[in-house]
Amino acid sequence: MTTASFGTFFLPGPTEVRPEVLMAMTKPMIPHRGRDFETLFARIQAGLRSVFRTSRPIFVSTSSATGLMESAVRCAPAGPILAIVNGAFSERFAQLARACDREVDVLDVRWGEVPALDDLEARLRARRYGAVTVVHSETSTGALTDVAAVCALARVHGAACLVDSVTGVGGAPLLFDDWGLDFALTGSQKALALPPGLAFGVASEDHMRHARQAPARGLYFDPVEFEQYAVKNQTPNTPALSLLYALDVQLERVAAEGMEARWARHAAMATRTEAWVRDRAERRGDVVDILAPEGARSPTVSAVTLPPGVRGSDVVAAVAAEGIVVGGGYGKLRDGTFRIGHMGDHTVETLDRCLTACDAALDALTPAVGRG
Ligand SMILES: *Cc1c(COP(=O)(O)O)cnc(C)c1O
Repeated sequence: MTTASFGTFFLPGPTEVRPEVLMAMTKPMIPHRGRDFETLFARIQAGLRSVFRTSRPIFVSTSSATGLMESAVRCAPAGPILAIVNGAFSERFAQLARACDREVDVLDVRWGEVPALDDLEARLRARRYGAVTVVHSETSTGALTDVAAVCALARVHGAACLVDSVTGVGGAPLLFDDWGLDFALTGSQKALALPPGLAFGVASEDHMRHARQAPARGLYFDPVEFEQYAVKNQTPNTPALSLLYALDVQLERVAAEGMEARWARHAAMATRTEAWVRDRAERRGDVVDILAPEGARSPTVSAVTLPPGVRGSDVVAAVAAEGIVVGGGYGKLRDGTFRIGHMGDHTVETLDRCLTACDAALDALTPAVGRG
């Protein structure tokens, strides 16, 4: 296999994994209670700390990202939870909190938009919350929330801030320590461009204090256990060694690129996608647009709104005929949008191939209407 085969898969998760990362998973097993493992895990910890911009220990969970969402909620400070809901994944965060027996109030935001800080402040003034849940990059809509501002506001009102940054971390700036977040998490299969199966998270000292007092923090996703083992460069349970080999190889590449360069590459891909949409609208008179408002667009995923009569699933099928995979609309946006995951190891060059295929697909699906 060569890297020439890379550059056809633009799902907003899982994302395309480079052949050399896949190959790393074929290495033989080692004992997970031993020095070689500790050396490997120490390297992984250091790499992930720079990805999250933190000096805190990183939780490495053998689960998809949802496992650590559950961890965050279970150990959140007592009291009701205010869930900011602006798409399908933030809605799921709210559901998950209810499933963990927490009382949940919802700050409802139109899908595609981001929360207005005034609205958030009004809600935080009206009731004392234990925690706020927020999704950084709403993968169903492509909207990017200013989680630094949300968390600062939550903190002023005595609430912790739990951040789902599943399509944020590794693609959009997230500065855990500087922003004073309480919990942030991601999954391996999004902007870090690894196979699915691992989740990564970090918790503040405050969060850990509450966790130690939480009445039912469970065991598998217990942050106290994660931390106790992480500081010894171990994991509480048998780790998914093959995935850690892949992670190790990928973190080396992430470090070589540098986080600022990585963020800039993702921003350039989002800008390129916007330019294509704008160009197409002008050229063809199509009513295609980026769903999220300017200034609140995710660098990792774009939801493109479609002309009436064209369904997301039609676009996905037509693009697939060109040998490229994109995502359909999600949840209640299933029909009216399709999504391009421009994250992980993609570049403006590989993205251009995808956009060319999208353009051809839309040409086939929409007769040119011109501008009246
Ligand atoms: C993909 C995704 C999730 C779910 O992650 P899993 O790894 O499938 O558990 C949650 N939130 C966001 C924003 C996502 O993009």
